[in-house]
Amino acid sequence: MRIGAHVSVAGGVEKAIERQEDIGGNCGQIFAGSPRTWTVAEYDEDESDGFREARAEAGHDPYVIHSTYLVNLATPKDELMEKSVDCLQQELYAARALGVKYVVFHPGAHTGSGVENGLDRIADAVDVLKIPDEVTLLFENTAGKGTTLGKEFSQLREMLDRPETPNDDLGVCIDTCHAHAAGYDLADGFDRVLEELDSELGLEHVELLHLNDSKDPLGSEKDNHEHIGEGEIGDEGFENVVNADELNDLPMILETPTSDGKSYEENLERVRSLVA
Ligand SMILES: [Zn+2]
Ligand SMILES: [Zn+2]
Repeated sequence: MRIGAHVSVAGGVEKAIERQEDIGGNCGQIFAGSPRTWTVAEYDEDESDGFREARAEAGHDPYVIHSTYLVNLATPKDELMEKSVDCLQQELYAARALGVKYVVFHPGAHTGSGVENGLDRIADAVDVLKIPDEVTLLFENTAGKGTTLGKEFSQLREMLDRPETPNDDLGVCIDTCHAHAAGYDLADGFDRVLEELDSELGLEHVELLHLNDSKDPLGSEKDNHEHIGEGEIGDEGFENVVNADELNDLPMILETPTSDGKSYEENLERVRSLVA
């Protein structure tokens, strides 16, 4: 089972590997900079070698860069679009420098310009990006609040289909908390969700899972992560996910709360305990 957590890079990017070791993960996710600013780290050779070596030694695979929360490729505003494209491009280059396979991002919100327009803007922006050979850009499903795109599996499919960029360079990350918030019932309706994921998106396009429970009810459109098994998805939902043949080969990343004393380690153990 490939499972790890989103860990901090404080003190240097190679520190992420140590932190992952400490909690017992074997893959992981980081920010390449600060998630609430436009600043993306540029890694020099020492830093990227340090990260690559530490990672090879630990055997962690794969790694993921989570894009900043400011990126909005669906925006009708040109200035925000330009900043978003620049930022994602820097993150793609950071991934190449570090030997990180995936960059995952939230597609964005159309802010009143309409779904069709938003999806077209995303496609145009993706086509401007230079996606390095070794890196895959992943659209993440969203809780769907406001005019945010990516709530429905069918919309994620549009994001893969509309750009000229070949599908090989693109993929999808499914976040369990966001799916639950979007109305996909992973506990009682799991078989149907899996069926929809395949018919509307295509299981072959899903390359990564974010494992988070949800503080809010099904269909709430709210994005508040909870510890595994302690939220509205519950053990039953995660038991379904980690035991599904269609999903259990995928790398799984925890983004559970870190501010309340409960550790990633406990969440990792909880997930592992659900594997039949
Ligand atoms: Zn996520
Ligand atoms: Zn979230």
